[in-house]
Amino acid sequence: MDEKYDVVVVGGGAAGLSGALALTRARRSVLVVDDGAPRNAPAGHVHNYLGREGATPAELLASGRAEVAGYGGQFVDGRVTRAERMDDGFLVVLEAGGSVVARRLLITTGLVDELPDIPGVAELFGSDVLHCPYCHGWEVRDQPLGILGGPFGAHQALMWRQWSADVTLFQHTGPALTDDEREQLAARDIAVVTGVVEGLELDGGRLSGVRLAGADVVPRRALVVSPRFTARAGVLTSLGLATVPQEMNGHVVGSYVAADPTGATAVAGVWVAGNVADLRAQVIPAAAAGLNAAAALNADLIAEDVRLAVEARRLMAAHMFDEETWEERYRAQPAVWSGRPNAQLVAEASALTPGSALDVGCGEGGDALWLAARGWQVTAVDFATAALDRGAERAAALGADVAARIRWVHADVTGWAPDVRFDLVSAQFMHLPGEPRRALFTRLAAAVAPGGTLLVVGHHHSDLETSAHRVHVPDMFFTAEEVADSLDGGQWDVLVTEARPRTAGEHEGAGITVRDAVLRARRRD
Ligand SMILES: Cc1cc2nc3c(=O)[nH]c(=O)nc-3n(C[C@H](O)[C@H](O)[C@H](O)COP(=O)(O)OP(=O)(O)OC[C@H]3O[C@@H](n4cnc5c(N)ncnc54)[C@H](O)[C@@H]3O)c2cc1C
Repeated sequence: MDEKYDVVVVGGGAAGLSGALALTRARRSVLVVDDGAPRNAPAGHVHNYLGREGATPAELLASGRAEVAGYGGQFVDGRVTRAERMDDGFLVVLEAGGSVVARRLLITTGLVDELPDIPGVAELFGSDVLHCPYCHGWEVRDQPLGILGGPFGAHQALMWRQWSADVTLFQHTGPALTDDEREQLAARDIAVVTGVVEGLELDGGRLSGVRLAGADVVPRRALVVSPRFTARAGVLTSLGLATVPQEMNGHVVGSYVAADPTGATAVAGVWVAGNVADLRAQVIPAAAAGLNAAAALNADLIAEDVRLAVEARRLMAAHMFDEETWEERYRAQPAVWSGRPNAQLVAEASALTPGSALDVGCGEGGDALWLAARGWQVTAVDFATAALDRGAERAAALGADVAARIRWVHADVTGWAPDVRFDLVSAQFMHLPGEPRRALFTRLAAAVAPGGTLLVVGHHHSDLETSAHRVHVPDMFFTAEEVADSLDGGQWDVLVTEARPRTAGEHEGAGITVRDAVLRARRRD
C-alpha cells in the first residue's frame, strides 16, 4: 500500500472493480479497499451477465481483481471506517489501522438487503428465499413458489407467475387486496393465503414449506420476499453526505446516496456508483455505472493536472528572470550546464583573432573557459554567485594561465554597462522579456570596439511550436533579424542572421530539432 493514490475505490464489487479497471487503464494509481461482503455473495451464480452467464459471484470478482491488478491496481482486504476532506484530497481511514490519502474517491459500497424478520429467511436468502425474478426466476421455473405479501405482494405474484404456474400469495401483514388485484390474481390462477407467516419448514437444508400462525404449512420450494434496500453509506455520511429515501408507489423501499448522471456527489471529488447510488442496479448496470463514474473522475483529474501545470509554468515564468531563482537553481545541483562551450559560439568565434571578450550571462563559464583557453582575455558576467564560483574553480583546474585570463564579474546585466569596449561581445541564450532585452542588446552593441564582433544567440520563436522544453513566455524569444534591425546600418556589417537548426540537448528535449537565432555583426573600423 502506498501513502497516496490518485483514486481510492471503497468497495470492490462490480461497480468498484469496473471503475478501478478503467482508472488503472487510464494510468491512474488506484487502491481498492474491500471488506469482502458483496451483496450477491449468498447466490450460487450470477445471471444476465452477457458473456459470463452463470459464473459464480466469487469467480467474477476474482477475474475482475486479476484484471485490475494486471494494470497496476492495488488491493487491501478490509473495511474503510470513514473519510475526511483534506486540502488536496481525502484521508481514508481503515478499520485495521492506518490510512491512505487519495486525490479522488470512488465509493461503491453497495447496499444491505434488510430482510423480513421471519426465522429461516436470512439463512435461505439467495438460495430458496429470493427477491429478484431476473436473478433467480429461471432457476425456480415451474416450481411451487410463495410470495410473502407486502405493499407489492399482488404485483410480485403476477410477475413471478411468468416463471411458474404454481404461485401462492401469502398475504402476511400486507395491505388488503383490491377487487382489481383479486380479479387479476384469480385470472392467473394465483392462490391467496391469509394469515401471518411465522416460519419456514426445511428439509435437508432446503425450503419445503411456509408455516403460518396456527401451524398450517403450505408446501413451497421458494419464497419471494421484498427486502428493504439500505445503502451502505457510512463512508459517505462521514463526508457529510446524507442518504435519500427511495419511494415506490408511495412506499419507502430503501435509501440511496444522490448523485448526478456521472456519479458525482454533492461533495466535490467524491463519486458513487452501483447499488449505493442506484438500488435497482444489477451487476451489469452497476459495472457500467462504475465505468461511467471512472471516466468522469478521470476527466476531473485531467482538468486538475492541467490547472496545476499551468500554475507551475506561470510561477516559473514569473520567477525565471530573478537573481534568487537562478542562485537557487545553481546551488541545487552540481552542474546546470554541460560545461562545453555553446555550439554557435564555437561556430562563429573559432576563426576570430583572440582579443578582449565580454561574455554576458556566463553561467558556469563554459564559453568563458573555451575563449580563455584560446587566448581571449574574458570578462564573464552573471548575477548568480554560485555559477561564478563554479566557473572560477573550473578555470583554476584548467591552469593558472586560463584562470588569469578570466575576470568574473557579479552583476545583473539588466542594470550594468561595461566601462570599456571589447573585441568580442557574446550573449548566448541571454533571454529577457522584450523591452529589457532590447535595451541590453543596445548596451552590448555599444560595448563592441571598432572592428569587433557582436554575437547574439538565442532560442528562436519557432521552438515554441515544437516539443522542446521551453518556458511559454513568447516575449522572451527573438529572431536574429530583430537584433540586426536594432543596429545602426551605418556602423555595422551584419554577417550572419540565421534560424540555425540544432539537435536539442538532453535537458531541452533530446533528439528533436530546435533552432537558434544567430546574429553575428562586425562594427566598422
Ligand atoms: C441474492 C442476490 C442475488 C443476485 N443475483 C444477481 C444476478 O444473478 N445478476 C445480477 O445482475 N445481479 C444480481 N444481484 C444484484 C447484485 O448483487 C448487485 O447488482 C451488485 O452486487 C451491485 O454491485 P455493487 O458493486 O454496487 O455492490 P456489491 O457487489 O455489493 O459490492 C460492494 C462491495 O463493497 C464492500 N464494502 C462495503 N462497505 C465497505 C467499506 N466500508 N469498506 C470496504 N468495503 C466495503 C462490500 O464488501 C462489497 O464487496 C443479486 C443480488 C442478491 C442479493
